[in-house]
Amino acid sequence: MRILALDIGGTAIKIGLINKNGEIIEKREVPTLAKAGGEALMEKIINIIGEYENIDRIGISTAGQVDPLKGKIIFATDNIPGWTGMEIKKRIEERYKIPTTVENDVNSAAIGEAYYGAAIGSDSFLCLTFGTGIGGAIVEKGDIYRGCFNSAGEFGHIITHAGGKSCTCGGKGCYEAYASTSALIRNVKEKLAKEDINGKVIFRYLNEGNTDIKNIVDSWLYEIIIGLVSLIHIFNPSLIVLGGGIMSQTYIIDYLKENLPRYIMPNHSMVKLVQARLENNAGLLGAAHIAMKA
Ligand SMILES: [Zn+2]
Repeated sequence: MRILALDIGGTAIKIGLINKNGEIIEKREVPTLAKAGGEALMEKIINIIGEYENIDRIGISTAGQVDPLKGKIIFATDNIPGWTGMEIKKRIEERYKIPTTVENDVNSAAIGEAYYGAAIGSDSFLCLTFGTGIGGAIVEKGDIYRGCFNSAGEFGHIITHAGGKSCTCGGKGCYEAYASTSALIRNVKEKLAKEDINGKVIFRYLNEGNTDIKNIVDSWLYEIIIGLVSLIHIFNPSLIVLGGGIMSQTYIIDYLKENLPRYIMPNHSMVKLVQARLENNAGLLGAAHIAMKA
């Protein structure tokens, strides 16, 4: 079986050709050019698929909330204008007659980690990805828990500071306004008046012994812990997979493992924290797996 997987993000589309064993045979990346709008993006996807032959299944992982039965975008932010309402599955199947599945990007990454990565052997777990915001996925007995309207797992928008900072969702005090990678970068820029800051630079300073940076990072890690504590008490998971580029820093995972237990009830303390293992390939592999099983 040959599966073509596309992972559509706000800046890039990753394209992978994957075999039945979940091995990536071929991979490339093209810019999304999201500002051109949803219709242009859909046409681009149709053209990309047309470049491949002998494809048995197509698996799409995409930013935005997805109705997986219809293969349609329920809601996408203005990161991809005009993506809301796009009937991805219908458009692809009408054109190519190849069975197609569509899933949200964090859900796809969670399924990737479940079957090929950090969560192998654990069929019920939570997945969080840290970046511009905080994405979440709930895996229950090997499947995504979706809620009534396919939008469960918006961990970035649980409120950790009532009446706090404004969030992109329109709310105030959301978890991602305090605990995302963007929030850390913003804090460092504000407090140290440094420009040209990114996650890697912050951890280079920290590893060089910069105590100002360490204090900011530790406060940010406390914000991460606050959200994890609520999630652990709600879901009682065996495992939490932490993804997003910044989570590859060992300082973060070590700090969380050491400090989190102090904040959770003893009967929840069996929970394990692990770093995501598939990095950029999680979405592709998850989308391929979903397509394979459909
Ligand atoms: Zn929010």
